[in-house]
Amino acid sequence: MVFADRDDGNPMQSPTKYDALVADDLLSAAELEHARRAAHAQLLDIEEVLVKDFQVPLEAIGKALARHFKVPYEPFLPGRMKPAYLLRNLKAQYVEENQWLPLDENKDGLLVLALDPERVRASRIVNQVFPKSTPAWCVTTGAEFRRTLDQFFGTTARSDGSSLREVLSGMAHDDSDGEAVQPVSQAVENELVKLVNKVIMDARRQGVSDIHIEPLPGNGRTAIRFRKDGALVPYIDIPASYRNALVARVKIMCDLDTSERRKPQDGKIMFRKYGPLDIELRVATIPSAGGVEDIVMRILPHGDAMALDQLGVLPHNLARLRAAVDKPHGLFFVCGPTGSGKTTTLHSLLAYLNTPDTKIWTAEDPVEITQKGLRQVQVNRKAGLDFATVMRAFLRADPDVIMVGEMRDRETVGIGIEASLTGHLVLATLHTNSAPESIVRLLDMGMDPFNFADALLGVLAQRLARRLCNACKEPYRADDAEMAQLLAEYCAELPHASAAGSAVLDDWRARHAGSDGHFTLFRARGCAACNRGYLGRVGLHELMIGTDNIKRLLQERGRVASLLAAALDDGMRTLKMDGIEKVLLGITDLRTVRQVCIR
Ligand SMILES: [Zn+2]
Repeated sequence: MVFADRDDGNPMQSPTKYDALVADDLLSAAELEHARRAAHAQLLDIEEVLVKDFQVPLEAIGKALARHFKVPYEPFLPGRMKPAYLLRNLKAQYVEENQWLPLDENKDGLLVLALDPERVRASRIVNQVFPKSTPAWCVTTGAEFRRTLDQFFGTTARSDGSSLREVLSGMAHDDSDGEAVQPVSQAVENELVKLVNKVIMDARRQGVSDIHIEPLPGNGRTAIRFRKDGALVPYIDIPASYRNALVARVKIMCDLDTSERRKPQDGKIMFRKYGPLDIELRVATIPSAGGVEDIVMRILPHGDAMALDQLGVLPHNLARLRAAVDKPHGLFFVCGPTGSGKTTTLHSLLAYLNTPDTKIWTAEDPVEITQKGLRQVQVNRKAGLDFATVMRAFLRADPDVIMVGEMRDRETVGIGIEASLTGHLVLATLHTNSAPESIVRLLDMGMDPFNFADALLGVLAQRLARRLCNACKEPYRADDAEMAQLLAEYCAELPHASAAGSAVLDDWRARHAGSDGHFTLFRARGCAACNRGYLGRVGLHELMIGTDNIKRLLQERGRVASLLAAALDDGMRTLKMDGIEKVLLGITDLRTVRQVCIR
């Protein structure tokens, strides 16, 4: 599963659009694939990469597109007349986002320029805007489309045409008196609005999870960093003189008190109000040393659920997972720290259970992923709508399946147990580290061990580990010392480590070794498409099933160690063991697994 690639803002171009370039020998298939990856990684248009890195003329790209879409190629014409009467009802921003533009109307019909004539035609939007005209389609390259747009609407019209550097250079730099609270001019304020919008849109396009704004006191510049695939990367520095205005702008966007600078505040930005993308951000401001304020913005993922078999759950666990949630009633938990992909997994489970004959209620805060067929409720504590209240309401609303975004207290867990004992399937997340620990934690909350044992279907603990980049990962033959190390770390998870070693190694040999008995592992290299050899993330899973052994231990209030031993006997693999399996499969490396499996 590549969590980080849920990047709605930058849909990957289908390589087939450019296949004529390969057919015409302008490029090899491998080069085209390389360009596609490089474009994806650097957030460039693939056409830009083809022109810049592979010296493919724009005209050749245009002709390839023409062959693919079977419509004529229309190059940019410097002297083209602006068809004012056709553009009356079209705004520049609309044209830019929807990527079609009427050029002319004559006896052949309405000449419509598009980047993807097929998609625009299928949407039937042109027929709605121009009901009396018959469209005649033509295609062009992205660069030429933008130039035509500028020609018709003016360069300033485009929302995102300027690079960040341009926006910044538009603001007069004056780092000398950063301390002074200077009123910024209207012009600079406009640039700041553009800047913040640009930061947010870039973050979204890059599949970033968090935006960190880190000002320094005095004349220090304000750093903006992005968290992507779990690691922070520098994005840009802002001159000290705009520090206060920048922070104020973000506060205004989420309705926070701009005069309150000494207390932490939190809010939400609905970006739809300010820019062309539908992005929701959670914002936290924190006063930091030197009288400045840090801001951290979390981009709430939104979109569709991932199929259960796309989650990166290994076959051994996938079969056990399906069997657990196929039960008509009971309690199933997904646990892990914040940012471990719990919500993604829960929604995949719901997608698996989501059939027309099933009523599914969810209580979430926030609703990140939406699915047709689910009835999803946004928890709103300020309005008195907390998890417990919503769950009680669900019980009166004839559910089959209930999903609860968060079970943190005795009351919600109690209602969950009650619901599952009265014939419902309840799915929930917990903020615990491991599967056995979750059980002990819930018992410590004061749950009745017998009811809880009856209700429990299973607990899935989860982490996200960086995935090796498939384009550049380097295979190598693992030597005996490295295999011994892997084996030692794997067996350290088992209760009888010394006895298990040789059996585990035999099993690995049977499943992973080459015909010569040697193991091939992979190491990170780094290429244009990835971040130092890593791209996206993969889930590590520890699935404990509520077997008879586990239920008995639960009733006896067993300790973590005895629950762990019983679960391992029943076929559980710990997070670390699952991670090491994924090292042997070449999906990740041991260093990464160690990083995320710290106890
Ligand atoms: Zn790579």
